[in-house]
Amino acid sequence: MKVACKGEDCNYDGVLLTNLEKEILACKENKVLVVLHTSTSHGPLYSQKYPPKFGTFQPVCNSVELGNCSQEELVNAYNNSIVYTDFLLHQIIEELKKLKDYKSTMIFVSDHGESLGENNLYMHGLPISMAPKEQYEIPFIVWLSGNAERLKPKPDEVLSQYHVFHSVLHFLGFKSPVYDKALDIFQ
Ligand SMILES: [Zn+2]
Repeated sequence: MKVACKGEDCNYDGVLLTNLEKEILACKENKVLVVLHTSTSHGPLYSQKYPPKFGTFQPVCNSVELGNCSQEELVNAYNNSIVYTDFLLHQIIEELKKLKDYKSTMIFVSDHGESLGENNLYMHGLPISMAPKEQYEIPFIVWLSGNAERLKPKPDEVLSQYHVFHSVLHFLGFKSPVYDKALDIFQ
């Protein structure tokens, strides 16, 4: 399908949502998996990951040399990227809500966190044995339509990226010998 993005969002991750609802409706299969790979809070240029109107927190760091910025400027730019991510997730949920005949879920998970100058560390990518929690404690956000499966009632359980695969298998109703119920977030 042709990309027909219009507006300011097209230069940012909002472009990923172009025609989302239409593309799902145009799909002839009865199960649809959409993977959106955003770059919102991936360093170093946090301040260029969101349209200017999402610049809620000011002043911001505009340098790739993160050490040249104050921690406040860095945190502000990072937080603005979170404001924009929050907006994008809201948009996705609103689109999915319109698809009333579908059982839907949105699973949002990061690949890593970011160090913002704590102990003079920046960005991400330290080996897990040395990495501070800022680099590996990541969000895992799930939204479900009213008619879909429920989450397992274990709100304090620590989830990881390993849960995504098994949960998606279950949600789409696939049977597989590699499926592990322990790594499934759904009931
Ligand atoms: Zn990344």
